Amino acid sequence: MTTPRLQIDLDKIKHNALTLVERLGAHGIAITGVTKAFPGYPGIADVWLEAGVGGLGDSRVENIEAMRRRGVATRISLIRSPMMSQVERVIAAADISFNTELDVIRKLSSAAGSAGRSHGVVLMVELGDLREGIMPDNLHESVREVLRLPNIQLKGIGTNLACRSGVAPDQNNMGKLSALADSIDAAFGTALEIVSGGNSASIKWALGGGSTGRINDLRLGESLLLGLEPLHRQPIDGLHGDAITLVAEVIEHKVKPTQPWGEIGQTAFGAKPPAVNRGHISQTILAIGCQDVDPDGLRAPVGTRIIGASSDHLVLDCGNRPMAVGAEVTFGLDYSALVRAMTSPFVDKVAMARKDVAERDELESPRMRRC
Ligand SMILES: *Cc1c(COP(=O)(O)O)cnc(C)c1O
Repeated sequence: MTTPRLQIDLDKIKHNALTLVERLGAHGIAITGVTKAFPGYPGIADVWLEAGVGGLGDSRVENIEAMRRRGVATRISLIRSPMMSQVERVIAAADISFNTELDVIRKLSSAAGSAGRSHGVVLMVELGDLREGIMPDNLHESVREVLRLPNIQLKGIGTNLACRSGVAPDQNNMGKLSALADSIDAAFGTALEIVSGGNSASIKWALGGGSTGRINDLRLGESLLLGLEPLHRQPIDGLHGDAITLVAEVIEHKVKPTQPWGEIGQTAFGAKPPAVNRGHISQTILAIGCQDVDPDGLRAPVGTRIIGASSDHLVLDCGNRPMAVGAEVTFGLDYSALVRAMTSPFVDKVAMARKDVAERDELESPRMRRC
């Protein structure tokens, strides 16, 4: 098999999706599967839909167009505000878009008219994380305008927390979103179909036992793929954390000192703290680098340690486990490492069923790190 490659265990991906569909379903919450980490890659979205994921969402219209070209017919939402310059493409490819700017929604309305289509709109509300969203006090005003626009259907409201400022979803902000949905329905006689309570960071709140109110949708990427809740990067009970792994190949293995010699300037990627002298170690080089993956987001096999990386080389202290040239080493990935590897043309993507995955080393546990 070619290296480097992302090894995608579709059985584990499916197990993760089935488990979350069932657990959240018990609270009346459906899942929108967020596909942006694997642009255009076919297998995963199909498996999610088989597992009962209700619809798909992506932040880039290019990825939605790629899924349509592959024949995905299910509901797809654009979960980032459309660019003014892309509204025609948004109308053609997406059923729904998430919006915060009336100028954009007006343009969507006229583009939908020209295309003879109707387009769904979810209004995003700012609840404290300070990324996208209409301020709650201005929400009714926006709703009033949207309801007047032809070819546009107001599908619901949503929010996004945690991503920019780390604000945790809780009874307070989620309760506020529910109350806003109620107040819109009361004031305008609508029956909002979607109340989207955020991303993977909302799972802990949703399954925490309190009332989930009107929230009936979560947009999930990281938790489905990596089995993690992103607020504390904790594994979610019963989910696989190694459904996707990265395999790279050894191109050099030598015993070397831990300290470089000569006058020290900057490295290929800026300044580096001086190496601690630990005598000589078994040093392995793998044929993968910063161009293909985020090395800080990799989890090495237990007993080994990543000690350096440049564009095309990953340097590993392999402890007392000598690694032959040509051998393959398997790593776990965090979201940042996964996204970069998925989008690198140099990294092959290989889907396999569980029975085909060779026995592999135990990997280090996930570390805390923000996206
Ligand atoms: C990326 C994204 C998500 C998915 O986030 P995860 O943490 O991967 O679950 C949800 N909503 C929006 C708006 C996003 O951009």
